[in-house]
Amino acid sequence: MKEFIFKPFGEMTEADYETIGFKSGLEIHQQLYTDKKLFCRCPAGIYSDNYDAEILRHMRPTLSELGVYDGTALMEFKTKKEIIYRINRNTVCTYEMDDTPPFLINEDALDIALGIGMLYNCKLVDELHIARKQYLDGSIPTGFQRTSIYAVDGWIPYKDRKVKIVQMSIEEDSCRELSDFFHNRIYLTDRLGMPLIETVTGPDMRTPQEAAEVGWICAKLVRSTHKVRRGIGAARQDVNVSVEGGTRVEIKGVPKIGMIPLLTYNEAMRQWNLLRLREELKKREITSETFQAKNYDITSVIKKPHYVPLKNAVESKLKIHCVVLQGFKDLLRWQTQTDTYFAKEISDRVRVIACLTTIPNIIHSDSRTDTITSSDWQKVKKNVEAADDDTLIIVWASEDDIQTAVNEIIIRAKEATIGIPSETRQALSDGTNGFERILPGADRMYPDTDLPPKQIAPDRIEKIKSWLPEQFWKRQTGYKELGIPTDTIDELSISKYAELFSKAVNEWKVNPVTAAVVLIQYPKRLKKGTLNFGSIDEDMLASILKAYADGKITYDFILSALKTSAELGMFVEEIIPKSITDDELEKEIVLAEQQMEKMEFIKKKNANSIMMGILMNKLRGRISAKIVAEKVSRSKKEFVNVR
Ligand SMILES: [Zn+2]
Repeated sequence: MKEFIFKPFGEMTEADYETIGFKSGLEIHQQLYTDKKLFCRCPAGIYSDNYDAEILRHMRPTLSELGVYDGTALMEFKTKKEIIYRINRNTVCTYEMDDTPPFLINEDALDIALGIGMLYNCKLVDELHIARKQYLDGSIPTGFQRTSIYAVDGWIPYKDRKVKIVQMSIEEDSCRELSDFFHNRIYLTDRLGMPLIETVTGPDMRTPQEAAEVGWICAKLVRSTHKVRRGIGAARQDVNVSVEGGTRVEIKGVPKIGMIPLLTYNEAMRQWNLLRLREELKKREITSETFQAKNYDITSVIKKPHYVPLKNAVESKLKIHCVVLQGFKDLLRWQTQTDTYFAKEISDRVRVIACLTTIPNIIHSDSRTDTITSSDWQKVKKNVEAADDDTLIIVWASEDDIQTAVNEIIIRAKEATIGIPSETRQALSDGTNGFERILPGADRMYPDTDLPPKQIAPDRIEKIKSWLPEQFWKRQTGYKELGIPTDTIDELSISKYAELFSKAVNEWKVNPVTAAVVLIQYPKRLKKGTLNFGSIDEDMLASILKAYADGKITYDFILSALKTSAELGMFVEEIIPKSITDDELEKEIVLAEQQMEKMEFIKKKNANSIMMGILMNKLRGRISAKIVAEKVSRSKKEFVNVR
């Protein structure tokens, strides 16, 4: 393999990522905004920790038709988890628990999904076939998810190229995990069955930044419909990463796009360093054939440890075992990710599969931090007859769990001779990732015989097109030509007022910058100033812009018209102040001049702007500031009282 040592995140260049052959793709899960779930009539989006009942399930692996066990199923069986589903009668019916067949698909959800498929430039299927996708991690009580691929072969523009959209599916959301400790995992079922789309991009992103940028494009595209859910958990991305010679590894359920760069950097580093570790093992002549590990019960060897985790283990009468990895000396300190070492790969497996969830769950002889005393290490070393180039791992657990833990340590260490295990990883808040589960088998889909195929008729597509927004990147090109301020373009292009903007500009001939500022900046400005200010709507904005276009209100009055309308809950013409006659304006100017004569000025040229201030305070909304300014500047009056 190529010689390359990972640099800190901030120092990596595009050329570095090219050297390691970085590739990343996204699978974006986005909840759709509907009242009801996808295949039953339970309400969607009602989240609560309250529950009326609990259902307990155990996972059991069964042999597939091909005579193999699914990796995930086998792993979940090994964990001996008790899976508990909490059920709230307001959000779940018997369908989610597999006691009643599905209802027909939620038509609103399907319309939104198809619309988004069109925005992604996809080809839509003419007939929808519902499939069951095996879900053996426990997050769906039935063990399968109803899903249907409805769009394929799309693209989005990115830099000077196109990023491929491989396929899009409409499917049911899974349960929310509440906790996972020891042998118990608890799920809430309120989210279960809510409509979701999954969008799969090609592995087209070549740096961590590109992966995030493409994520943002996809997020903006779906948000521009205003028919998707927002907020925590409403959009989750699975991020695929591989490097040259590596394996495609999935980091599951990344909640924020901003996390993607650091996460994908660390995963690329992990894969690269695991490949380097395999090289190092080869140098030491350790391959999958020559790999040797031994397991010893040392419960009676370490009698009175001071090291607290082991002291607790002894007091709780747990079993203490030592695994000897032959020739592995110092390799548990082999760096995998930022501040993360190979020992973590082993500890993770022990945590997830043997359910030893209290950390630390292992200690090892490569460690530089204090664990047991060196004399205890010597005692253990002698007892297990370890050589100087071996590494010792100590693990403690109940009689029931100790063998699983020992097996996992040996399995994971041996996998280092092969390279990168096929597994899914979970995103951690520090930007590194941890083991989640063994990758499920490839053949997870099978037809669902409960639901008939569904035609997607051409007139349905036409109806969807009637509400579908223009793709936001096309809008942005147009806005740039109109000279809209850059900080407003992005927001306007996905705003629910984007259609109103084009109407105001094209039909009512409102100045584009004015329209953009009124629609995007003014509502924000008003919201900032007032508590619970949420009553601006499209009708209100349309009436105000139209009144401005018709000359009924002045530019200066737009903001206060919006404020008053929001307070009233609507725009009415009565709030427009009467416009001022020329005579009245002359009178006001005279009054202002009288006021000015009583003042002192530091600089003579300030006088005009002070006079403008006095006049506009009184006349705002009744006359345009431009006309007043002209009058003031033409006034021959000289104010002599300069200090
Ligand atoms: Zn239901």
